Amino acid sequence: MTRLTFLGTGTSQGVPIIGCQCPVCKSADPRDKRFRAAALVEMDGLTILVDAGPDFRSQMLAHDVRHLDAILLTHNHKDHTGGLDDVRALNYIDRKAAEIYCEERVLQTLRNDYAYAFADHKYPGSPEWHVHLIDDRPFRVDSLENTGELEWVHDLGYFYRQADGSLKPSDNAVVEAPHDAPNVIPIRGFHHDMPVLGFRFGNIAYITDMSRLPEQELVKLQGLEHLTLNTVSYHPHHSHFSLEEALTLASLIGAKHTWLTHLSHAFPSHAQFCRELPPTVQPAYDGLVIED
Ligand SMILES: [Zn+2]
Ligand SMILES: [Zn+2]
Ligand SMILES: [Zn+2]
Repeated sequence: MTRLTFLGTGTSQGVPIIGCQCPVCKSADPRDKRFRAAALVEMDGLTILVDAGPDFRSQMLAHDVRHLDAILLTHNHKDHTGGLDDVRALNYIDRKAAEIYCEERVLQTLRNDYAYAFADHKYPGSPEWHVHLIDDRPFRVDSLENTGELEWVHDLGYFYRQADGSLKPSDNAVVEAPHDAPNVIPIRGFHHDMPVLGFRFGNIAYITDMSRLPEQELVKLQGLEHLTLNTVSYHPHHSHFSLEEALTLASLIGAKHTWLTHLSHAFPSHAQFCRELPPTVQPAYDGLVIED
């Protein structure tokens, strides 16, 4: 069984937007409170997070997440990567580096945005990441990689205990993700002109932050029970599907259920939006769980 929980369904600023007085931002319906887009996937005994934006900490707390086998990043925008420093809490529980799966271009941004996490001499307590490079080929996510057990040395930071008992400073190693027996199928799309990835897990596909999905990718989206698509506006948008584009794509792909995410306050309240949409295409909301 594959289960996906929407941890966040809001656009880059979230909903409500700071300072906005519109009826959607002022709505009392909890379904109109949207964290930045992220999803938690449970599959084959694995717990996988897709994107770790600025609301990562609140999302982990809201769903009592105590362990992640992998963090998959769709692309390098801050609303999808801004919470990665907070994996420190899980480093401490798991005594392992966080297993992050991303493309080379995303890694380059992480190196810039989080230079301290890749420094030769890391400040004690910096986040521990083990980066698996992926591309658009299917790849395998496993339970925690055998990267050794982290040991916290007071005031000095994380170290790996060697066989001879000595301590080796940790580093944020980068490896290639394995392609044998894949359990995740990347979907290549474009966010304006930026290549981004969506992911298929079993019969559930999660696509966010795309404005174009090349036709050759459609073959990867056949026979879906659940499809997630992003939209931010009724009007054409340079980097996201418009609602009309999302609806057209939803009917072309023909999943049994399509869920809309990355929603903005340009759409009406959740209850009203549900009434405007066909029954097979509905807005997702934070906390919604879908299963196959
Ligand atoms: Zn985004
Ligand atoms: Zn608003
Ligand atoms: Zn984006």
